[in-house]
Amino acid sequence: MTSSKRVKFKSTPLKDDFIRDLRSRVDQYFKSNNISQYGNMEMYFKTALSIVVWLGFFLLIMSGTLSNLGLFLAYIGWGFVIIFIAFNIMHDATHDAYSENQKVNQFWSYSMDFIGGNQYLFRRMHGAHHGYVNIHGIDVTLETHGQFRFSPDEPWLPKHKWQHFYTFGLYGLAMLHWVTIKDFKWFFVENNIGNQKNIKHPLKEYVILFIGKTFYYGTGFILPMIFLPQSALFIFMCWVLMHILPGLTFALMFQVTHVYEGTTYPLPDDKGNIENNYALHVLETTADFCRHSKLGTWLMGGINIHVIHHLFPKVCHVHYAALTDILKETCDDHQIVYQENKRFLTALRKHYDMLKILSEPNAVVPRAGKATMARTA
Ligand SMILES: [Zn+2]
Repeated sequence: MTSSKRVKFKSTPLKDDFIRDLRSRVDQYFKSNNISQYGNMEMYFKTALSIVVWLGFFLLIMSGTLSNLGLFLAYIGWGFVIIFIAFNIMHDATHDAYSENQKVNQFWSYSMDFIGGNQYLFRRMHGAHHGYVNIHGIDVTLETHGQFRFSPDEPWLPKHKWQHFYTFGLYGLAMLHWVTIKDFKWFFVENNIGNQKNIKHPLKEYVILFIGKTFYYGTGFILPMIFLPQSALFIFMCWVLMHILPGLTFALMFQVTHVYEGTTYPLPDDKGNIENNYALHVLETTADFCRHSKLGTWLMGGINIHVIHHLFPKVCHVHYAALTDILKETCDDHQIVYQENKRFLTALRKHYDMLKILSEPNAVVPRAGKATMARTA
């Protein structure tokens, strides 16, 4: 079983050529432009804007002046602000990419608790995903307790026959599940995260979990139920529904970057070796989309420019677009395939195609891509 052993990425000087070259070009970029790899004015502006808009929606909701329709729409808008904070502030901070000051990163990481999640758990789980993309048993984003089959190594169940249909409906529940069930489940029911076994969480993290959830539920529906004229049930339904569209957006943005027709699912050998170094592994398991869309990239916090994020997770997302131009050039020079979709709809179709392929019990999917094969002789 993959999860029970230490998985290592095998390397050779030939395989390392590419990443060495890319690292030096990226270093050169920051040096010659005299800029830091961390957040800049754009990042501070996004942070301030997030807080102001979040507060604006909260005060609007609490004003008691909205009609039922107005209240419903305000909740939906608020849901999108929450997802904006997750993509643009929390993600960078938990990667320690927001600032070179660790305390600043830790401070903004708590934005995850502010928006209904838990930064401590996110750091641990996201780390397991980052280090081992598409490796069954370690990459926790593939782990759905049998709900979906995102990997050919996930045991097939009869319901998976229909997963290319039901998955999209369930994606809409992903965010609601996260803020109500997921964190509690990982804190109280699960002992392992990927290949980290028998985890004992510090007491402090349990306390923070409850403070965060109390704040999120308190501002989300408890205070409105106390102070607004609308019925408690209506307010609660608005709160539930505010998670649906942002949840669907969040799940799709993320899923199309790793689970798509054209990705690979490498398996470690008996000794736990993956026949690739990490950089080539990322290039064979990750695809970007709409990287030239300035507005899209700005709104999504660069989630769409995902390859460079995996290769340089400690670089703030405001630099991804420029660095991806360098990545593309370096890939071309080394004759390595860089995977991208110009349009989101193409990425979405490939995600659907992979879900359909994996809906078959004997799905055949590539275990290695061209870069690995060319460098393994
Ligand atoms: Zn990440």
